[in-house]
Amino acid sequence: MDLAFDRQHLWHPYTSTLTPLTCYPVVSAQGVTLTLEDGKELTDGMSSWWSAIHGYNHPVLNEAAHHQIDKVSHVMFGGITHEPAIELGKKLLSLVPDNLEHIFLADSGSVAVEVSLKMALQYWHAKGQSRPKFLTLRHGYHGDTFAAMSVTDPNNSMHSLYKGFLPEHIFAESPKCRFGEDWDESDLDDFKSQLEQYHSQIAAVIIEPVVQGAGGMRIYHPNFLKGVRDLCDHYGVLLILDEIATGFGRTGKMFACEHANVQPDILCVGKALTGGYMTLSATITTPKVANTVCSGEAGCFMHGPTFMGNPLACAVANASMALLQCDDWKQQVLNIELAFAELLPKIKNHRRVQDVRWLGAIGVVETTDAVNMEVIQRHFVDNGVWIRPFGRLIYMMPPYISEYGNVEKLVGAISTALDRDECFN
Ligand SMILES: *Cc1c(COP(=O)(O)O)cnc(C)c1O
Repeated sequence: MDLAFDRQHLWHPYTSTLTPLTCYPVVSAQGVTLTLEDGKELTDGMSSWWSAIHGYNHPVLNEAAHHQIDKVSHVMFGGITHEPAIELGKKLLSLVPDNLEHIFLADSGSVAVEVSLKMALQYWHAKGQSRPKFLTLRHGYHGDTFAAMSVTDPNNSMHSLYKGFLPEHIFAESPKCRFGEDWDESDLDDFKSQLEQYHSQIAAVIIEPVVQGAGGMRIYHPNFLKGVRDLCDHYGVLLILDEIATGFGRTGKMFACEHANVQPDILCVGKALTGGYMTLSATITTPKVANTVCSGEAGCFMHGPTFMGNPLACAVANASMALLQCDDWKQQVLNIELAFAELLPKIKNHRRVQDVRWLGAIGVVETTDAVNMEVIQRHFVDNGVWIRPFGRLIYMMPPYISEYGNVEKLVGAISTALDRDECFN
C-alpha cells in the first residue's frame, strides 16, 4: 500500500498533518482477526469502535449485503419505502424498550444525537414553551457534530476551541458510585439541584446509560440512572438515552438502560446496528413525543438526510439483529466478562495502574500516566493484538465471539506494555 500517500494526504481520526502517527495497513479481516499487509495477524480488541460485535467477514452479514446489492443499493426515502427498512423497523421495535414506537433512521451516531436534540426542541416548541437548554453529565461523549459536541464533556478542547459558536448547556457532576458497589443517594445531589434550578429551561436530559464511553470509560451505578428517570418525570423533562456505544448487548443486557429498568423518551442507537459493516443509526421515540413534534408549527419533524434508510445498510442491520435474536450473545458477553473478572484484577496492583474495571464485554485499564501512542501502538501490533488506547485509558471491547484465549492475549499485551516505560509519557 502507498503508505507515503496516506501519510501525506489522508486525515485519520484526530490526527495532525504535521506529525502524523503510524497507520497500520489492514488487507482483510476474519472473525476476531485483522490481517496486515505483511501477513501479520492481530487479535481485535476494539470491534472497530464498538461496532463489529459478531466479528469480521461474517457469512450471514456478507450474504445479506450481497443479496441486497443485487436488488437495489440505495433509493431515496422521501416518498419511497422498501422491505429492508420495514423489516429493520420491526426488529428494532422487538428489541428496544416497549414504550418506543417511532423510528427515525439516520446516518451516524452523531446525527442520531442531533436528531434526538432536535426532536426535544420541536417537542417543547409545539407545546408553546421555549426550552433552549439541555442537561447532561460531565465526562459524557455524544459525538463530533456541533450539537453533539455541545453536550460532550466541556473539559476537552472542543468547548474552548469552539467557544462562542457552540450553544452552552448545563453539566452536572458525573456519578461517583460504581457499578456493583454500594449505592449512595447523595451521588444524585448535583444533578438534582441543576434540574431543580433550571428545569423550566431544559428541553431534555441526555446521558449515556450505565457506561460513559469515550469521555472516560466510567461504569456507574444503575440507581443513578433510575434517579435520573424519576427526576425527569418529576420535573416534566424528556430523557434521551444515548445507547450508541452500549446498545445491542455490549454491557450484558440488550440495552444498558435495562440494568436500571428504565425507559427513555428518546433512544439513540448506532455503532453495532449493522454489526460494523456500514454506517447507520436510529433515533427512536414514543408516540407522545412523535405526535407532539408533528402537531407543532412545522407539521412534521424537520430532518431528512440524503442517505436516510439506505437499503444496503438496513439489509445488513437486519442480518445483525437476526443474529442477536437467535445467537447466544448473552452467554458470549458473559464469558468475556468472566475472563475480564479473572484477568484484570491480576494487573490492578501494577505501579502504572490507577484502576481496572469491567462490565459485560468492556474491560478498562486506567493508567497513572498517559500512553505514548506511537510506542504503545507499535507494542500492541508487535504482540499480535489491536488495542487503541487514548490518554490514560487502555480499554477493550472485543467482538462477542472472542474466546477466553483471545481475551487473555489482549490483557497479556496490556500487561507487558505496563512494564515498558517507553510506552508512557
Ligand atoms: C461513538 C458515539 C457517538 C457518535 O457516533 P458516530 O457514529 O461516531 O458519529 C455518540 N454517542 C456515543 C455514546 C458514542 O459512543
